[in-house]
Amino acid sequence: MKILTTIPEVRETLNAHRAAGRTVGFVPTMGALHAGHKSLMLASVPENDITIVSIFVNPLQFAPGEDLEAYPRDLETDAALCTEAGADYIFAPSVSEMYPEPIETTVSLTGVSEPLDGQSRPTHFSGVATVVTKLFSIIGSCSAYFGEKDFQQLAIIRKMSLDLSLDVRVVGCPIHRETDGLAMSSRNIYLTPEERADSVVLNQALAKGIAAIDAGETDPAAVRDLMAAHIATADSGTLDYAEVVDARTLLTPQVLSGEVRALVAVQFGKARLIDNMGTTVAVSGSA
Ligand code: AMP
Repeated sequence: MKILTTIPEVRETLNAHRAAGRTVGFVPTMGALHAGHKSLMLASVPENDITIVSIFVNPLQFAPGEDLEAYPRDLETDAALCTEAGADYIFAPSVSEMYPEPIETTVSLTGVSEPLDGQSRPTHFSGVATVVTKLFSIIGSCSAYFGEKDFQQLAIIRKMSLDLSLDVRVVGCPIHRETDGLAMSSRNIYLTPEERADSVVLNQALAKGIAAIDAGETDPAAVRDLMAAHIATADSGTLDYAEVVDARTLLTPQVLSGEVRALVAVQFGKARLIDNMGTTVAVSGSA
């Protein structure tokens, strides 16, 4: 496993592999890697000849006052996990390698980027779309693996890749959870013991919401209220949003039907946690 730090090195290395007929799998991350990230690598390794993991804490996607400085960084431990997962390369550029001068070009989307986190973190998705476009340009033709943990982000990457005809096959991977149901996240280390104990309400609220839908509830407001009420039982958390949306548009329909996704965001002290869960509402008349 080799660590690359410059853009020309990555291009030269991966172009040589592609010229030799090898396929490339790409796992973009911000590091502080955990089993959720590893599951993306484990999806890529058997499907591709070469797997490259990027580790870059992207300043563009943090708003002033968010945790850019505090975000955990530990390249040595990350490299060990990548080796264990069978990855071939890490691309760990410096900020000045990625942004040698202030950028004047950004990528932003309408539609899927607007609701949910788009409301709570108005500059976040443009930062994500810009860095991922840049990374796709650096990596070149590949399959890229993203977690459903960041469900809206995945929808944005899919739409952006389609709209801009990017030479990337976007692959979504299931959410990896702790044994009590908390979705794994690099930010979970910010939780105090009390907040960690309370944080299971995200998963529990989603499970309740999805169970209600599976039992026949088709009113999104009723499901939202049910999930919000459960999250309110955690003293240390403050609800940002609890919503049920159409899984494709991420908009709240009048009546739930087809593929739907419940999503929640809750602030616990320094950690803003997100999670989601999906189900399919049988359209009446279908089997
Ligand atoms: P991050 O390092 O948090 O930017 O995440 C990098 C990638 O790992 C994104 O595609 C995330 O959706 C994915 N990821 C993060 N946490 C999990 C998880 N618990 N399960 C599956 N994928 C995850």
